[in-house]
Amino acid sequence: APRVHLKQVDSVCPYCGVGCALTYNVDEEANRIVYVDGRDGEANHERLCVKGRYGYDYAMHPQRLQKPLIRVRYPKGSLSDASPNAQEARGGRRKGHLVRYEDVLPAFREASWDEALDLVATRLREARDTHGPAAMAGFGSAKCSIEEAYVFQKLVRAVFGTNNVDHCTRLCHASSVAALLETIGSGAVTNTFAGIAEADVALLAGTNTTANHPVASSFFKQAAARGTKLIVVDPRRPDVAQYAWRYARIRNGTDVAFYNGLLHVLLAEGLYRADYVENHTTGFEALKETVARYSPEVASEICGVAPDLIREIARAYGSARAAITFWGMGISQHTHGTDNARCLISLCLVTGNVGRPGTGLHPLRGQNNVQGASDAGLIPMMYPDYQRVADPAIRAKFESAWGVPLDPKPGLTVTEITTAALEDKLKALYCMGENPFLSDPNVNKVKKALAKLDFLVVQDIFLTETAEFADVILPATSYLEKLGTYTNTDRRVQIGRPALKPPGDARLDWQIVCEISNRMGYPMPYTKASDIFDEFTSLTDAYQNLDYDILGKAGRLWPAPDRAAKDGVQILFDDGFPTPDGRGKLVPCEYTPARETPDAEYPFVLNTGRLLEHWHTGTMTRRSYALDAIAPEAFVEVHPEDLARLGVRPGERVRVTSRRGSIELVARSSTKVGVGSVFIAFHFREAAANVLTIDAIDPFGKIPEFKFCAVRLSRP
Ligand code: SF4
Repeated sequence: APRVHLKQVDSVCPYCGVGCALTYNVDEEANRIVYVDGRDGEANHERLCVKGRYGYDYAMHPQRLQKPLIRVRYPKGSLSDASPNAQEARGGRRKGHLVRYEDVLPAFREASWDEALDLVATRLREARDTHGPAAMAGFGSAKCSIEEAYVFQKLVRAVFGTNNVDHCTRLCHASSVAALLETIGSGAVTNTFAGIAEADVALLAGTNTTANHPVASSFFKQAAARGTKLIVVDPRRPDVAQYAWRYARIRNGTDVAFYNGLLHVLLAEGLYRADYVENHTTGFEALKETVARYSPEVASEICGVAPDLIREIARAYGSARAAITFWGMGISQHTHGTDNARCLISLCLVTGNVGRPGTGLHPLRGQNNVQGASDAGLIPMMYPDYQRVADPAIRAKFESAWGVPLDPKPGLTVTEITTAALEDKLKALYCMGENPFLSDPNVNKVKKALAKLDFLVVQDIFLTETAEFADVILPATSYLEKLGTYTNTDRRVQIGRPALKPPGDARLDWQIVCEISNRMGYPMPYTKASDIFDEFTSLTDAYQNLDYDILGKAGRLWPAPDRAAKDGVQILFDDGFPTPDGRGKLVPCEYTPARETPDAEYPFVLNTGRLLEHWHTGTMTRRSYALDAIAPEAFVEVHPEDLARLGVRPGERVRVTSRRGSIELVARSSTKVGVGSVFIAFHFREAAANVLTIDAIDPFGKIPEFKFCAVRLSRP
C-alpha cells in the first residue's frame, strides 16, 4: 500500500491535569489521527499514559453531533415552545453503555444554526426578562479552553446578569481552593510536581495518582527509587502504596483526626520550625490547643491507624530537610473537605515546608484545564484571577472593561443551582461541555430538578445523558479540532492545537457563545482565540506577560514576571504569602463524622472515584476503542471477607442500594478496600455511582461528599 504522508501537530493531552505534551500524527486526507507520540514537555518528558496514547479516536466516533437539534415540540420557524408542559417530552429510554441515539433522536429535529441560535437567544432573553437574572445559570467545563471559559463566564455575568456560573471544579478541588485562599491567599500549587525530586519526604494524601495522574506518579516512583520517603495515606490502598515508605490506611472520612494526630506529635516533640511559625504564620496557639486533644492514641481510636505509625510518620515528616505534600479527591470530596485541606496546610506551615526546593503544597488537579477554567473566572464568587465579585473596586474594574453593570452578589454553585431548579427558582440553564446527569451527586435528584427548567440548552460533542433532556443541543468541536490554551496542575499554560477538521456543521465553542451573546444584544466581536486570551490576561495579574507567541511550544508557568526568562516561577512564597498581613494562617479543625454513616440497614461505606482507562462520565473514553476494550464494564470492589459473608462470588452481579437509589453491577474481590468499605468508579451510565451518592456539601467549598455515603449490598 502507498505510504500515507502524516502531518505532525504538537498539542497537549485532553485528559488529566498533568498536561502531557504530545504530537498527533494525522492523515489529513482521511481526517484521522493515526497515532500519538509523547513530546518532551516539562510535565511528561515524552511519557504518556494509556489515555493520552490511545484515547483520541472518540473525536472520530460516528455518534459525533453534526447539526443543531431542537426538541420537536418547538415547531419549525417558531421561537416558542408548543407544549405547555416543558417536562413531558424530556428524556428517552436508555440502555447499554452508550446513549442509544435511535431512542432519543425522535424527540429532536435537525435545525439550521440560525434557527437554533435565534431560538436559544430568544428563550434565554425571555427567561431573564420574565423571571430576572437570578433565574438564569450556566455550567461551563474544564474540558474547554481558557478562552471558552472566559467568554462563557462573561456571557453569564454581562448578558444573563448573574454570577450563577460554575463548573466541575466544584466537584473536584473547591474545598482545597477555599482552604488555600483562606490560609495562604492563593489557590494554586506552590511547587510543581517535579519538585518531588528534591524532597526527602513526600506525603501523598487521598490521591490515587497511578490512575488519575499517571505520568505524575512516574515522577513519584522515580523519586522513591532515589530515596524520597513516600508516605501514602488513603482508606483505599492506591497502587502507588507499593512504592511507599509507609502506608496508612485510615478509616474512611477520618482525615482530620489522623492529621491532627500528626500535628500533635510535631508540636509535642518540638518537630516544627519555631522561627518560621513566628515570622510567617498566625494562629499557632489556637492550633496547638486543638491538636493537644488529638494524641496518637485518641487519633488512632478515630482513624484506625496504630499510634506508633502515627508517631513514626510525624517524626519522618517533621525531621525532613524538605517535605512536599500532594493531595487529591480523597481529601477534597468530603463535607469536611476544607477542614482536611486546612490540616495539610497546617502541617506544611508549622514545619516551614513551603517556598523552598523540595517543599510545597500541591493539590493535584483532575482535568487538563480545571486550573485554567478557574483562573478564567468560571466560578460563582470570583471574576478571572480569583478577583471577588463582592469587592466594589474589583467589580468596577470589570464593569468598566465589559461596559455593563454587574451583579454584586456571589452566584450559586453547581449543587445550589440544582437545588434552585428543584425549588422552581431557576428557569433557564446553559450547559457547555458538562454532564451533570452523570457527574453530580444524587443524579435522580439532578434529573428531577433540571427537568423542571423552562429551558435547557446543551452544547457538546455527543448526545450526552444531560443533552437527552435539553430543549436545544448545539454541536460543538472536540479538543482535537480547536486552538486554545490550557493550564495544568503545575500552573503551566500550554497551547492545544487543532489536528482534525470538525464533523458536519459542528462549530467552535467560543464562537457559539459569542453568537448567542450577539443575538442577545451584547456584541462579542472576537475574531480569533488569541484575541480572547489577550483580553483575559489584561484583566489578571497571574497571566501578565503571557501571550500566544511566548507560550510557543513548551508553554510557560504562571506567574511569569520576566518575559525573557526561560520559564515562569516554579516555587512560590519564598518570602511570605499574598494574604492581607503577608502571613500564612493556621486554622484549627475538629474531627466531624461524615453526613451519612453506616447503620444496620446500610452497613457499607461507599467510596467513588475514577479508573485509569476512563474519564469522568465516559463521553470520550467509552467512545475510544482501546480504552473501552480494556475497561468495558462497571464493577464494585468489595473486600473478600465481606463477599464471603454475603455469599457472593467474585464476578457475580450484586445490587448496591443507598437511600437515593439502586444500581446493579459486577462484584470484584479486592483488598484495596477495607472490610466494610466498597468502591465504585463513576464513569458508567448503566451503573451510575452517582445514583447512590449523597448531595450533602462542604459548607465552605460547597463540594459534595462523593467519598462517603452508606449503602447495602444484596443479590439482584
Ligand atoms: Fe494525558 Fe494525564 Fe495520561 Fe498525561 S498522565 S497522558 S495528561 S491522561
